[in-house]
Amino acid sequence: MEREADLIQENRRLQRKIKLLEEALQQERSVHAKYNEAILKIKEKDKALLEMNRTLEMKVQERTVELTSAIDKLAHLASTDSLTQINNRMRFNILLSQKIAETSRSKEGIGLVLFDIDRFKDVNDTFGHQVGDRVLTELAALIKNHIRKSDIFARWGGEEFALILDDCHFSCVRDMAEELRMVVENHDFALDGFTLTCSYGVTLLKTSDTTNTAIERVDKALYVAKHRGRNRVVSRL
Ligand code: GH3
Ligand code: MG
Ligand code: MG
Repeated sequence: MEREADLIQENRRLQRKIKLLEEALQQERSVHAKYNEAILKIKEKDKALLEMNRTLEMKVQERTVELTSAIDKLAHLASTDSLTQINNRMRFNILLSQKIAETSRSKEGIGLVLFDIDRFKDVNDTFGHQVGDRVLTELAALIKNHIRKSDIFARWGGEEFALILDDCHFSCVRDMAEELRMVVENHDFALDGFTLTCSYGVTLLKTSDTTNTAIERVDKALYVAKHRGRNRVVSRL
């Protein structure tokens, strides 16, 4: 009898233990499920973040392309003459100082030409300012067509233009200016009864030059060309 009571007690103890174990197992399962759920949520968030990151990267790339193109446009605007679409004076000065620095390495020499339309005031007074503008644009295009791609051409201001001729010795620069003089004189600018001409000052860049001394020298030559009767080339070394 005593043995039977012991067995019953042992059985009850075991059943309580089983119940406790089942409860613990149940709890562990529930924690596991919650853990899995959390992992799933984290993975979803991670995916969403990755997607957001990708979209952001694309937007940054698009913006960078837009900004680069805007910077290029601004740089072009800052260095281009709005009427003739050739280099402006500011850009020319930068390129001129670069070319002066290159003179010591240049075998042939680097030429500088400054030219000015003769009696341009008369063109404006006779045909109007708009025709004057058209003539400036046409002249710039004409000169651009007759120089090499490596030459640097700019509107120095008003009706004055400047040219840097790379790899050109003294007589080459003079010949080039003379050729341009004839090209302009022979071009039909459709100015009834008025032949458009230019006067040219020519020099070679020196290693000891600054942009000011080079321009001063070529400007003096241009001044002499005007005083000698215009439509001519005067050179100064
Ligand atoms: P010179 O042979 O001595 O150079 O005589 P010029 O008449 O060409 O010189 P002047 O300096 O007396 O006159 C230059 C003229 O160029 C006056 C100015 O109105 C004109 N001009 C300057 N810039 C422009 C422009 O952008 N458009 C037009 N239409 N005219 C301009
Ligand atoms: Mg003039
Ligand atoms: Mg002038």
